[in-house]
Amino acid sequence: MEFSEKALVLRVGRFREIDAWVRLFSPSRGVYTAFAFGGCRSRRRFCGCLDVFNHVHFKVKSGRAYHTLLEGQLVNGHGRLRAEPGRLGMAVNCLKFFEAVEVPPPGARAAHDMLLESLAALSDEPAPPRLFPVYFRARVACDQGFFPSLSVCHACGVTGADLPGAVFHVEEGRFLCPACHRPGRGTFVRLGRETVTLLETVRRAGPATWGGLAPSSAAAGEFSRLLDRFVTYHLGLSWEHGTFVKN
Ligand SMILES: [Zn+2]
Repeated sequence: MEFSEKALVLRVGRFREIDAWVRLFSPSRGVYTAFAFGGCRSRRRFCGCLDVFNHVHFKVKSGRAYHTLLEGQLVNGHGRLRAEPGRLGMAVNCLKFFEAVEVPPPGARAAHDMLLESLAALSDEPAPPRLFPVYFRARVACDQGFFPSLSVCHACGVTGADLPGAVFHVEEGRFLCPACHRPGRGTFVRLGRETVTLLETVRRAGPATWGGLAPSSAAAGEFSRLLDRFVTYHLGLSWEHGTFVKN
């Protein structure tokens, strides 16, 4: 059986000199691996297609045991990502995190659109914000249902707009107003109003708009700390030697 679809290239590896395996992510199939036999030689069938970050229209033959890529046509190579180390570093960080989270098929379409929008923003924005990979992690965690809403205190239900001095209890994944915060066992990250608003904005607004966010250094610090602790504890991931590893 053959099918054709657009997919994002997550990884490429070589084997047997001229053959390649390609890890792909498509909105309908999620993440899958396919082989491109002769892919490292064939300029006609895969011209400029077999590189990480490429969005490609592939023609695929699906066999019983594996998929084979028959040909590809480049849709978007996100060229500036490769030209500038700062952009490339942020894009690699986002992609590695995305792979490590292992988004299940039901969430693939939304995750695919968000990932493509992120790569486009990192490639096209005049100056992508330094916090972009942290926003990305927050957004993936929110979209996949890992991250609770911070609009109300999870203990007493008071609304979040007036919660100066609120904290996030990392291990319990609970947002607590000052009245409900009882310091004790666990890791608490203080969340000012600006940080709560920042997280809610990232949750709602697309990656193309993140360049317009300009948090204070205090909010940026709280936000980074929150995501760092949350991702380490709940997703079991930490960034080591250029990739996310499971703890
Ligand atoms: Zn409360």
